[in-house]
Amino acid sequence: MSLKGKTALVTGSTSGIGLGIAQALARQGANIVLNGFGDAEAAKAQVAALGVAVQYHGADMSKPAEIEAMMRFAAEQFGGVDVLVNNAGIQHVANVEDFPLEKWDAIIAINLSSAFHTTRLALPHMRKQDWGRIINIASVHGLVASAGKSAYVAAKHGIVGLTKTVALETATTGVTCNAICPGWVLTPLVQKQIDDRAAREGISVEAATKDLLGEKEPSLQFTTPEQLGEMAVFFCSDAARNIRGQAWANDGGWTAQ
Ligand code: NAD
Repeated sequence: MSLKGKTALVTGSTSGIGLGIAQALARQGANIVLNGFGDAEAAKAQVAALGVAVQYHGADMSKPAEIEAMMRFAAEQFGGVDVLVNNAGIQHVANVEDFPLEKWDAIIAINLSSAFHTTRLALPHMRKQDWGRIINIASVHGLVASAGKSAYVAAKHGIVGLTKTVALETATTGVTCNAICPGWVLTPLVQKQIDDRAAREGISVEAATKDLLGEKEPSLQFTTPEQLGEMAVFFCSDAARNIRGQAWANDGGWTAQ
């Protein structure tokens, strides 16, 4: 197990992609700090079943003081964060002129600024031991845009930029920073968009799912949290130690078009 004795903190890991990544890192032996607003006890039990130590902190990723408390908690529990996965994210769909101001601010805070705060607080420990992995869960929307998603696209392009900058600042060290850019993954975040589409167009959820995939994703298949978990494991491996500042898509061909 390649990550035995290391600690991974995954933000927004009570469901979806974050939970899948936490489980994949736990399978490699990493102790896990979970975070998020979902069912913490259920997520903890799923990770603990893999035989590693697991803790949960309920910090709100839109609040820098709570992020600082979470990073302190991780250091107290496990001595520091060796693998940081910035995954927490929310979505809101509306045209720019109709975009609610509070949604804009929340998306920028949770999907972008939180990664700045966790990264700045995780780096001193990583630099000291000359090993660390920072993995930012961006999106295809960090590479291309879609109408109606101004805040999300701006935040995701922003986190790809942050990824490159952190990678350059750590380039001569054992710390790497990269981003993963998923296409559609069937999580609560996307299920809401499918349900909204079905209601808006008066079609079944099955038909809305087919349309959603057909519009953007040539493979007509969802990427899974398990597949993204394995990508995160690869970024933690020695084989990936000179991969720096990349934004790798796992998107069924979305951005190849
Ligand atoms: P999800 O809704 O299942 O998970 C989001 C997680 O973030 C949950 O644990 C939620 O509780 C947590 N969260 C939300 N607001 C928070 C806050 N203020 N503080 C702390 N935690 C908070 O969604 P997901 O699809 O698994 O999304 C995870 C990440 O993957 C997001 O950054 C999202 O943008 C990205 N992503 C998702 C897809 C997709 O198709 N699902 C595609 C590309 C990128």
